[in-house]
Amino acid sequence: MLNLTGKNALVTGIANNRSIAWGIAQQLHAAGANLGITYLPDERGKMEKKVAELVEPLNPSLFVPCNVQNDEQIHSTFETVQEKWGRLDILIHCLAFANKDDLTGGFSQTSRSGFNTALEISTYSLVQLSGAAKPLMTEGGSIVTLTYLGGVRAVPNYNVMGVAKAGLEASVRYLAAELGPENIRVNAISAGPIRTLASSAVGGILDMIHHVEQVAPLRRTVTQQEVGNTAAFLCSDLASGITGQVLYVDAGYEIMGM
Ligand code: NAD
Repeated sequence: MLNLTGKNALVTGIANNRSIAWGIAQQLHAAGANLGITYLPDERGKMEKKVAELVEPLNPSLFVPCNVQNDEQIHSTFETVQEKWGRLDILIHCLAFANKDDLTGGFSQTSRSGFNTALEISTYSLVQLSGAAKPLMTEGGSIVTLTYLGGVRAVPNYNVMGVAKAGLEASVRYLAAELGPENIRVNAISAGPIRTLASSAVGGILDMIHHVEQVAPLRRTVTQQEVGNTAAFLCSDLASGITGQVLYVDAGYEIMGM
């Protein structure tokens, strides 16, 4: 049985009730995990208020700001984990960002700063958060990140984010190889397209969702809850032999040749 009772799980990437991280947090909570939630702070504190209200029913025992471009916030997030929990078992990396201008039109026009920003936030953050989590995962652990088909195929308009996801998937393998001896598993879920704040920045996302609904074997897209179920599985002992993998949760779209 899938049981995460007694596990301390830090979940990044909740912005609203459409966020994939929200689907994951709900399923981890349902499986009994003790949750810690991070949010991306803004100047007016609007995000803090919004996310705090949303996650309240899940009774998180830790709620901290963490902009992954800010070393101090990353440091203090894991310091808080150490102080309050003493041990971390699960890290959910469910965040990404690229400038909207870089998610439409020609990939060759990507600016240096746009490229760097996308890879810093969407790719390097997994490496940095995993490095910070490692010493706290004293009884082993599970790290799960979110990727997309655009990391292995040229998906229209996904552009620099495809490069970021390719780097993310390679990072999963390198991290899995390094952390395996500590019994820390690292995996990625490649989710099918879902309407969220982040995906709405990708040009033509609705056409992509419609296309998936027509050709995916299951003739539909997936939900945040389905991705959440897979994340909960990957974080559980049921997946104790799985590491370094990219698991597709996309209604089967990836196998199709059209
Ligand atoms: P979302 O907009 O709900 O989540 C993106 C999150 O990234 C937000 O919570 C945002 O606050 C956070 N974020 C952005 N910059 C940050 C920073 N500097 N520091 C900390 N957090 C930051 O969208 P989502 O679709 O749920 O995206 C979550 C993950 O799922 C992303 O990695 C995305 O690429 C991936 N994914 C999404 C889809 C999809 O179709 N929606 C498909 C496959 C993979």
